[in-house]
Amino acid sequence: MSLNLPQISLSVSIKNSLLTSVFLLLAILGGVSVMATMRLSALQDAVESIDRDRLPKIRALGDLNADIAHTHLVAIRAALSSVAEPRAAAEQELRRRTTEVDARIAHFKETIGADAPMRMAFDQFVNKWDLYQKQQAVMLEPDVGANRDRLEHVVNIETPPIFQALVDAIGHGIRLADHRADSAIDSATLDAQVFRLVLWSVNGVSILIGLATLLFVIHDVSTPIFRITRSMEAIAEGELQTEIPYADHTNELGMMARALAVFRTSLVENERLNAATRTLSELSEWLQSAKSEPELYQMISTVLGGLMPECTGALYIYADSRDVLEVASEWNGAALTRSLHPDDCWSLRRGHVYIHGTNEVEFRCDHVHDGVDENYCCIPILAHGEIVGLLHVEYNFTGAETAAEAKARFADRARLGLACAEHLSIAIANMKLREGLRDQSLRDALTGLNNRRYLIETARRELLRASRSGAPLSVVTLDIDHFKSFNDNHGHEAGDAVLRHVGDILKAMFTGCDVPCRLGGEEFVVMLPNCTIEEAALRAEELRARVEALNISYGESMLPRVTISVGVAAYPEAGIDLPEILRVADGALYRAKHKGRNRVELASGGMVPPIDEMTNRAVAALDAIVAQVDTRPIAPTDAGKDQQIA
Ligand code: GH3
Ligand code: MG
Ligand code: MG
Repeated sequence: MSLNLPQISLSVSIKNSLLTSVFLLLAILGGVSVMATMRLSALQDAVESIDRDRLPKIRALGDLNADIAHTHLVAIRAALSSVAEPRAAAEQELRRRTTEVDARIAHFKETIGADAPMRMAFDQFVNKWDLYQKQQAVMLEPDVGANRDRLEHVVNIETPPIFQALVDAIGHGIRLADHRADSAIDSATLDAQVFRLVLWSVNGVSILIGLATLLFVIHDVSTPIFRITRSMEAIAEGELQTEIPYADHTNELGMMARALAVFRTSLVENERLNAATRTLSELSEWLQSAKSEPELYQMISTVLGGLMPECTGALYIYADSRDVLEVASEWNGAALTRSLHPDDCWSLRRGHVYIHGTNEVEFRCDHVHDGVDENYCCIPILAHGEIVGLLHVEYNFTGAETAAEAKARFADRARLGLACAEHLSIAIANMKLREGLRDQSLRDALTGLNNRRYLIETARRELLRASRSGAPLSVVTLDIDHFKSFNDNHGHEAGDAVLRHVGDILKAMFTGCDVPCRLGGEEFVVMLPNCTIEEAALRAEELRARVEALNISYGESMLPRVTISVGVAAYPEAGIDLPEILRVADGALYRAKHKGRNRVELASGGMVPPIDEMTNRAVAALDAIVAQVDTRPIAPTDAGKDQQIA
């Protein structure tokens, strides 16, 4: 057993927001990455500039140190020189060098700018330099130079510490420059490492987020859209059984899949309707080619049975009396109601289709049995604007479907029934028209008897059958006596009434395979298959007697009696085709006319005695037999009986 829970999935708009957030995050991370990169390169530049800065300073301090050392040496030389001229030269050089040192100091001072620690160190150096210059001045004093001991003391004892302090101050400056550059480089290197770490982390996180986003987009967006699109294409190409994925999802993709499923259902329905329409047009073609009404109804039963397998149905057609409708065709089971009165059906009473089971207010038709499902429909069948029948369809509810499904399917079948009814109406109308025309072409309008054409067609068939089977076949021709003068005396309409009455007698007397016809005027023919000339003669005589006995009322009065003359001929003695046989029968008929009319003549030459005479003769013969039986003694034994018969 599986639980059919709907798949919970993020809606596409939430996915869009998520993706937007991810892209924003990636943009921020990218910004951080760019900033870190920029900061790194700035640190790189700073380190390089510190390195570039340190060397000139150290070199300048070294040069200053050397110059001061030279100045000190020149000052000692000048102080120790006792001869005036070299001393003056030394002093001049000392001044030059001192000026040079001052210039260097001034220049160096400009290079250090506002760098506080360096400036402090420099100020100390300048103080030391001032102290040293004062000591130099003491060393070069003439009084000191004149006193050798004092000079030695100043040069060797007093001056060296001061000079050493000056040199130390320069050394301190060099160390300071070196140390500051190193610590700046160290801190820049540390910063650079931190930023590099940040950069790597940001890049790593970005790559992870990018990959996760890619997976998410592939799994939750691209793949579903691709699969649904593929199903759509397959359905569009006509593969209506294609599975539609994601239909149980609650998000927009699920909605899309469900919309596709609805679309597919309507396609399937359309396909089914198209198939039904195709079948209907085929049905219509078949129905048009039906030869007779029974064949037409048989076709209807086969096709409608196949088109509506879940329904029992019947086609009712008005009986000739037009007071009841009778089953003409039925399918998927026998119709419970075999005939119905037009008042029993709401569709016939109201003159339009009645679909039961779909309305709030509805009444069951009387012709529908109680056990029948509530879903049924009655569709009147029209031919030339007149209701000729009723198409009745009952839905067989199986229980395998829900009531709503059954209703929907029944509504569909009712629609199909309506479409069928139109085709049936046309086919039945055509059939009725055809039969009517055929009737007109083969039937005599005045008497309702078959006409000459029908006689010719039927005679061809019956003579062929008789020639094959050797069965007898007789032909009776008859003509009303003195009909011209009857017309002249009583009018043409009275003559027509006589013709109709004679026709009625013929229809009543000659049934089954007998073929009574009106040849034209007041002449009639009856073809009698399987009938010998003797039997035909007896029936002709009975016909003559019945016509003679006719009492015809016309208007207020009674018409005088009419008589007929009759000729009888038989196949094959009279001939092998109809014209020959008719000619021989007509010969006998003329003989009858000639002999005084109102009689039956045989082609063979014999004359059939009048029926009364035959009856009298038969009665006399019977009387004679009875008289004989009465006068004889009763035979005592079986042997005696045999003797009597012999
Ligand atoms: P016979 O005894 O020799 O047959 O004499 P008849 O007067 O019957 O013979 P005839 O052939 O001279 O007359 C036939 C008449 O039948 C002529 C015509 O007026 C009449 N007739 C033919 N067709 C019809 C018809 O449809 N209705 C009526 N009322 N009369 C018809
Ligand atoms: Mg005639
Ligand atoms: Mg006649």
